[in-house]
Amino acid sequence: LDRLRGRLARSQSAVGKSLLGLLGGGDLDEDSWEEIEDTLLIADLGSAVTEQIVTKLRAEIAGGSVKTEPQARALLRSVLIDALHPEMDRSIKALPHDATPGVLLVVGVNGTGKTTSTGKLARVLVADGRRVLLGAADTFRAAAADQLQTWAERVGAEVVRGKEGADPAAIAFDSVSKGIETGVDVVIVDTAGRLHTKTGLMDELGKVKRVVEKQAPVDEVLLVLDATIGQNGLVQARVFAEVVDITGVVLTKLDGTAKGGIVFQVQHELGVPVKLVGLGEGADDLAPFEPEAFVDALLG
Ligand code: GDP
Repeated sequence: LDRLRGRLARSQSAVGKSLLGLLGGGDLDEDSWEEIEDTLLIADLGSAVTEQIVTKLRAEIAGGSVKTEPQARALLRSVLIDALHPEMDRSIKALPHDATPGVLLVVGVNGTGKTTSTGKLARVLVADGRRVLLGAADTFRAAAADQLQTWAERVGAEVVRGKEGADPAAIAFDSVSKGIETGVDVVIVDTAGRLHTKTGLMDELGKVKRVVEKQAPVDEVLLVLDATIGQNGLVQARVFAEVVDITGVVLTKLDGTAKGGIVFQVQHELGVPVKLVGLGEGADDLAPFEPEAFVDALLG
């Protein structure tokens, strides 16, 4: 939690500070409201969420309940936390079933941090005492399977990989069969993310999910999005959401952007929670997403 605060604070707190500065403690003129709106938009919260936040702030301030700076801060804090849907279930469903392991599919465009996040997540689950098997179904990028194998060795997970050019769905199928056979607790399948043809992606991901479901229920489909690409991440999210039912988002590279506001927008658009955030390239740099801690980091 401290790490999350530290990492985020550096890049994000400018946004919080300028919002607090603008809200001040008293009445606001239209120019100030416009500046507040611009600040939220520039931080990538998107127009729908921005409008929702500004409407709430205006109503409270018009009601006269905010007279001091600490009151403004408390109001901003609660409105921002609300906009992050703290009620959403952010747990990772990774418990085995009677006869089958928990199954997680990790999807996303290449380069977003899919393989790295898969490795980091495996590390968290292994540290928690689970036996984990990683399926290297990302056959799009030649080095992805090697990279995943390195992670598996590093964290103490098993790995299933295919021959060069193997069908991703076949590898996904083999991973789950092997997981059932060896009685692991969790299988995490790292899938390929070619987006250049939407139908190609649809066919491939749909097929991966179908063949896996022949053997075991899929507990989580985690979409990995790169926070540094802002609005483009939403475009990607929409495409993936058309293909598979996303159950959660992993937002990577939050350490490298001041545009953490994308968290608000992603949840609003997809209606699913951001469950994990990537805060760096290291093995420990994956953290559960906690709205309160995130907003506190934002407000500095
Ligand atoms: P994939 O193609 O989606 O599997 O992407 P990779 O897992 O290979 O990651 C692409 C690059 O992003 C690598 O250099 C990772 O080290 C880096 N990366 C992944 N997650 C994070 C993160 O949370 N923060 C930072 N700074 N870099 C990350």
